[in-house]
Amino acid sequence: MATPSVKYRRVLLKIGGESLAGSRGAGIDPDAARALAARVVEAHGLGVELAVVVGGGNFWRGGEHTDMNRATADYIGMLGTVMNALALQEAIERLDVPTRVQTAIEMRAVAEPYIRRKAVAHLRDGRIVIFAAGSGNPYFTTDTAGALRAMEIGADALLKATKVDGAYTDDPMIDPNATRIDRITYLQALNRGLKILDATAFSLCMDNNLPIIVFRLEDHESLVRVLQGDRVGTLVAA
Ligand code: UDP
Repeated sequence: MATPSVKYRRVLLKIGGESLAGSRGAGIDPDAARALAARVVEAHGLGVELAVVVGGGNFWRGGEHTDMNRATADYIGMLGTVMNALALQEAIERLDVPTRVQTAIEMRAVAEPYIRRKAVAHLRDGRIVIFAAGSGNPYFTTDTAGALRAMEIGADALLKATKVDGAYTDDPMIDPNATRIDRITYLQALNRGLKILDATAFSLCMDNNLPIIVFRLEDHESLVRVLQGDRVGTLVAA
């Protein structure tokens, strides 16, 4: 049972593949996986139902390989996310929290296939569910898979972990006066051209009124604070 101070009881956390690469810049750094797992487990301790979608950008992004057949390149990208999911699963289970990986492309020797009702049952039973292989479809991203899975499992919010601690009025690297936006509507975010999620993922959230919170997972207790409804990162909502 979630503690009373928790604002979101079931969430979908989207983690980019690069956060598993740590200082290596590519591939998987077990230390980075351990650090991510610690953040996730700390939040799970609040009694929140936690599902995770992992990206694959630390291995491969289909769209970057323009001389390849796009669908093939995207399938390679989706397989990359499975490696990340297994690394994260291993790191979380070392902290004694049960998990399941479900893949959108069947590979039963490695993980369960994605079955929505089963995923929800796992969440209810206190397992962290890691969704891998994106949406199973080329021409999509794991942001979109995150938005899709969030909707399917009835998540209260999509939590997007990024390298910056939220959306800014301007690029903080260029403009020192740029300030972090606490809260913004979908339409304002669109009008200001804020890159919160890719366009498909963003419109899925907007059309279905799914709140998005952009925040930096590496920050101490940031995920815990997001779940408690503290002003962390940027909230995009209606
Ligand atoms: N991908 C795909 N369909 C999906 C999700 C991902 O084809 O539903 C492929 C696509 O090539 C993408 C790659 O997998 O570039 C890795 O995912 P993404 O770029 O979203 O990873 P992230 O940037 O979050 O690490």
